Amino acid sequence: MSQKIILTGDRPTGRLHIGHYVGSLRRRVELQDSGKFDKIFIMIADAQALTDNADNPEKVRQNIVEVALDYMSCGLDPAKSVLFIQSQVSELTELSFFYQNLVTVQRLQRNPTVKAEIQMRGFSESSDGSDNKAGTPVGFFCYPISQAADITAFKATTVPVGEDQEPMIEQTREIVRKFNATYGPTLVEPEIMLPDNAACMRLPGTDGKAKMSKSLGNCIYLSDSEETLREKVRGMYTDPLHLQVSDPGHVEGNTVFTYLDAFCKPEHFERFGSVFHGKKVSFDFKSLDEVKARYQAGGLGDMMVKNFLFEVLNDTLAPIRQRRAELEKDLPYVYEVLRKGSEVARAAAAETLADVKRAMRINYFDPGVLEDLIASRK
Ligand code: ATP
Ligand code: MG
Repeated sequence: MSQKIILTGDRPTGRLHIGHYVGSLRRRVELQDSGKFDKIFIMIADAQALTDNADNPEKVRQNIVEVALDYMSCGLDPAKSVLFIQSQVSELTELSFFYQNLVTVQRLQRNPTVKAEIQMRGFSESSDGSDNKAGTPVGFFCYPISQAADITAFKATTVPVGEDQEPMIEQTREIVRKFNATYGPTLVEPEIMLPDNAACMRLPGTDGKAKMSKSLGNCIYLSDSEETLREKVRGMYTDPLHLQVSDPGHVEGNTVFTYLDAFCKPEHFERFGSVFHGKKVSFDFKSLDEVKARYQAGGLGDMMVKNFLFEVLNDTLAPIRQRRAELEKDLPYVYEVLRKGSEVARAAAAETLADVKRAMRINYFDPGVLEDLIASRK
């Protein structure tokens, strides 16, 4: 039977947030611990981060260790998963270069995620070249191809990611099909693995904006202190029409309820149903459906629901915070994990690159190739 392999990763453009956690990180740890996968590669995508941060390599550099700390504090275990840095595997760049010939500019222009990101970053506003910030960097425009290289280099069968990555996986599948049809069966076509809960597909920001994103500054970070978490939850966007406690409230589009959908477990009602921050209150609900029904009917204040949400989030984040504090004491160890992981990743990618070159017949100096050439000239 063919191997089951995971590849996924994150851009080191900031610390990881709870959107990453529900969109991908939580699932990765479950898959890692399920023992159902032969290999798991987790990539810190620094080269991709540089495609829209070329003028700020220091930010990317600083965040590599932060992302590694976030990974390990969430339970990614270097004994079970290969944690590595993208730029240290130069084979990925070579693969990308060959794949670029299999994709058209027009096809890339249709990618809805890249389109939205270009707009969000203001790249498309001016393109006369007069300003460094104007226009879209070619590397950024092509990052879906680079992502195809990352995924195929490890022969990944499964890519656990958030919904925004769907167009990237589709692009990868197209490249694989085109490559295999042109040069013979070589690459593995990956499957996307999306979160099973709709709230986790694309977690909104604390400001209610469509996506929690490092670049939008609307994040709750995994490393936020308890106090910061409390403040951020307190300031969260809810239902703008719910002015008085007695007013009927809306649950759809209400970020507080979206977060509860993503994080709340049945046991939280027993544990936090009547006590918040050590104070006794009456929050007498048995399930999230009951909370929603009361909110919709009127008579449940936002602060009450936010207090409950704080407890629910803190229940998940407190142990992560604690492990992070431990790991932060030994950064040389974290760095060593990345160095070793990058070596392992490099060896795996080199095998695929050799397969690719063989399929494309650009493996000029392999044994037997010269003999073939001589024979074919006759
Ligand atoms: P940037 O703004 O630099 O692009 P980001 O916050 O979008 O950063 P990425 O590193 O691009 O984070 O995404 C890493 C992974 O996390 C991807 O699998 C992506 O689908 C997932 N992800 C990111 N944000 C969310 C979110 N708000 N909800 C669900 N999944 C998310
Ligand atoms: Mg992103």
